[in-house]
Amino acid sequence: MISTHFSKLQLRGLNRLGDVVIPGDHDFPSFSSLKLDDHVDRILDHMNDDDRSGLKIVMSLFAFLPKFFIFFILWITEKAEGESFLASQLRLVNTGLKGVIFTLYYSNLNSKSEIIHQVMEWDANINDYPDEGDEMQQYTDEALSGESQKYFDTIMDAHKIREISRNAEPKLRSLSIDSRLRYISRLKEVILNKREMIIDRIQADNGKSRTDALVSEIFGVLDHLAWLEKYAAKALADEKVPTPVSLLGKSSKIYYEPMGTVLIISPWNYPFYQAIVPITASFVAGNAVIYKPSEVTPLTGLIEELLQAADFQPSWVQVAYGEGKMGADLIDQRPDKIFFTGSVATGKKIMAQASQYLIPVELELGGKDPSIVFEDANLERAVRGVLWGALTCTGQSCTSVEQVYVHESIYDKFKKMLLGEVSKIRQGTDSNGEGEIGRMTAHSQTKIVAEHLQDALDKGASLLFGDSWDRETDLIPPLVLENLQKNMLMVQEETFGPIVPLQKFSSEQELIDELNESKYGLSASIWSADKQRCDRVSRALKTGNVSINNVMLTEGNHNLPFGGVKDSGIGRYKGVHGLRAFCHSKSVLIDGNSSKCEVNWFPYTEKKYKSFDKMMVSLFSGGIGNFVKFALTGVGLESYSDKIAKK
Ligand code: NAD
Repeated sequence: MISTHFSKLQLRGLNRLGDVVIPGDHDFPSFSSLKLDDHVDRILDHMNDDDRSGLKIVMSLFAFLPKFFIFFILWITEKAEGESFLASQLRLVNTGLKGVIFTLYYSNLNSKSEIIHQVMEWDANINDYPDEGDEMQQYTDEALSGESQKYFDTIMDAHKIREISRNAEPKLRSLSIDSRLRYISRLKEVILNKREMIIDRIQADNGKSRTDALVSEIFGVLDHLAWLEKYAAKALADEKVPTPVSLLGKSSKIYYEPMGTVLIISPWNYPFYQAIVPITASFVAGNAVIYKPSEVTPLTGLIEELLQAADFQPSWVQVAYGEGKMGADLIDQRPDKIFFTGSVATGKKIMAQASQYLIPVELELGGKDPSIVFEDANLERAVRGVLWGALTCTGQSCTSVEQVYVHESIYDKFKKMLLGEVSKIRQGTDSNGEGEIGRMTAHSQTKIVAEHLQDALDKGASLLFGDSWDRETDLIPPLVLENLQKNMLMVQEETFGPIVPLQKFSSEQELIDELNESKYGLSASIWSADKQRCDRVSRALKTGNVSINNVMLTEGNHNLPFGGVKDSGIGRYKGVHGLRAFCHSKSVLIDGNSSKCEVNWFPYTEKKYKSFDKMMVSLFSGGIGNFVKFALTGVGLESYSDKIAKK
């Protein structure tokens, strides 16, 4: 479709509206499958400027709205009853929008041969993707034949979402890993090309600084997709494993197979990364995906738009918007796996609910990550690293530095250097990449930070920086504190804000013991020139991830699995381990098609029992002599078993 009046985005909106009005069936093509050439301009040329700009605004909006919303708008405007001005205007909008679509559609289907040609083209598309939205098509058809209320209710319904995903499973299972990876490559290209628009959307929903959005979300996602391109085929290929000598003549393999449908429930702090990374890992493993974003940062329509641009079929990855209840309703539909990222409290609820159906659950939860600075650390580097680790994404990362332990011999120097650096940090949701820390994403989290701060101050902590904060605004300055005590919320609980709580320590072992008492265990950072000490401490800490002389960097290597221990979670994602976590491992043992009777099969006799015992003792006693004894007894036992079986 071409137009001098409409932008590409507006043409996309027109196509979405068109497909809601005319979704197509087996006799006629859908609106978007027609080649409309210059027909769009022929209509727009006849409109006055005001009507044309109105239509442009509506089409830009439709480009981002999910189809069921467009359907809802049409439905509302059609059902508006009465003589009021508003009702008549709404009906007019409905007639106008449908008028444009029908005019374009029927003006293009102007000869029988053209209809046949269009239908053939459409059929060819359908054959490419035999499962594509058949179910969705059915609902849309039902809707357009007058049951619109049913359509609207059902499309939002977890049950129908699950049906659509179940329908998509066979097709996804049948796609080879190479074809799945072709979609991943296209998606990588789409994201790279649209990165500025994506960053705008992340900032609008989440409020983080532009550089944080670029580095921690876009770069991280592209890096993950590149990892999949490079390693996924190998990680998911059939794996040959050794077969023991007692099973001589046989071979063994593991197949990594799709699970079916993976339900992904995500939080608000990395709305793009926490969407694309688990969605694509599940998809590459051959699963259908239902993705439930956080209601706080839904990035409405963005994920669908990008996946559609990369040719993913809508039924392969569905985005289910809504609050926690939508997540809970989807769990009741028994997905084959739940991948949850979020708070400990919600994680516990999800696990309890999933246990009723024995659904495997992976939980990526919160943390209270320590940064430990030893006396021989490069202090300038440690100060900058600690500050970045505590303040990036306004301290709203699961692996944010939330406790800073500095050896007493360098404490004063470290504190002075840190206060010097913190005063230079620029705050705000910028548009040019120069803002360093953005706003808090959710006001509810701002209130938690205020509560933790007040509790710490009431119990004797001192605020060294950040006194200007009024405890209300979401633009919280960095809060540097000292004199913290064990009984403070800021020491015990995840604060999830821009805090830098400083504490002194003197003994390595006492500090490790204290940190290991924490209920959390997500990640930690260690700063020291002594490699042995770094190794010793990283092994001693009960945590899922450790960065040595760096901070929050295990997440930067997609070969490393990521996840926590204790209340910080269950399971791992990313890396080979993480990718296989979206698969069922199927064990296969292959034997020849001989008529031989295995020694452990019936019939049992006393002689067989004694030979088996002798063979077992020699096998597990070690040494060459015993091995020879095992081999000879084994051969004898085999021929004896065969002989008595054939009697
Ligand atoms: P949250 O637990 O409030 O919500 C997370 C998601 O769960 C949302 O989509 C929400 O709608 C949904 N949800 C809520 N109740 C539900 C229910 N009963 N059933 C199903 N779904 C339900 O978390 P949040 O406030 O959005 O995110 C912040 C938390 O996420 C922090 O604790 C942070 O540490 C954690 N987090 C962890 C990681 C990690 O990888 N370990 C990464 C990012 C964030």
